[in-house]
Amino acid sequence: QNVLLNGELLERSKASIDIEDRGYQFGDGVYEVIRVYNGKMFTEEEHLDRLWASAASIGIEIPYSKKEVQEQLKLLVEKDQLVIGTVYLQFTRGISPRKHPFPANGVTPTFVAYTREVGRPVEKLQSGVKAIITDDIRWLRCDIKSLNLLGNLLANQKAAEAGCDEAVLHREGRVTEGSHSNISIVKGGKVYTHPANHFILNGISRRVMIEICKREEIPFIEEPFTVEELTQADEIFLTGTTVEVMPIVELAGKSISGGKPGPLTRKLQELFKSEIELQCGK
Ligand code: PLP
Repeated sequence: QNVLLNGELLERSKASIDIEDRGYQFGDGVYEVIRVYNGKMFTEEEHLDRLWASAASIGIEIPYSKKEVQEQLKLLVEKDQLVIGTVYLQFTRGISPRKHPFPANGVTPTFVAYTREVGRPVEKLQSGVKAIITDDIRWLRCDIKSLNLLGNLLANQKAAEAGCDEAVLHREGRVTEGSHSNISIVKGGKVYTHPANHFILNGISRRVMIEICKREEIPFIEEPFTVEELTQADEIFLTGTTVEVMPIVELAGKSISGGKPGPLTRKLQELFKSEIELQCGK
């Protein structure tokens, strides 16, 4: 396995990070996870656009053009001979003596990327997953894909301890998103999801799903819904880079849509798969 470190491809054992890298000490950085199908990156442009936007919103200037990063990632995927999996990439603010303010004389961001082989979660896509509901204790800039993930980790750990895949987060009874996915519900044939504001990460998979709904004329509403509406939904599904369109069939111990993926969720899963095949081939 290889690692892309500041534009250089190295064997993983040769890659090292300084102990005063601000990403390591403060989580001062941003990241992306891009899906690879058939050796091709899915929605790569959208992920890179979001990475640049996340970096800009915390004042990190990425020292490469998007095209340069794209070329480097392509080389990495080829070198690792990755057919199906993910590319993880992150930029931290860089290395500087530990102090809260951004380094006064500027600093070069640290860029790391590596791949992982991950298959499509075929069984779970068929059967659906379980989720818990918990408080969203995160900060108020969840639109930034920041390395600071403690709120997400604590929520997901709770889910794992309850034998579930995901934790559905809410702020004072309003559902925001999952610990590492976006969430939508189906009620009366309409799809509802939280609007893309600072309370959620505007998922790339969420955007693909919205485009599909528009194209297929599936009624779609970007409005927050309550925990009560969630528990009374006809169908619930998550969207995310590794989970695609993932049905939730059990929520807080109660069965949803008869304990199996609902018809609209199934339809969206299929259309999402077609979108993957369109971009990356079968
Ligand atoms: N929300 C959170 C908090 C996430 O961490 C993620 C993905 O990792 C998502 C939503 C889904 O985003 P995407 O579809 O871009 O993977």
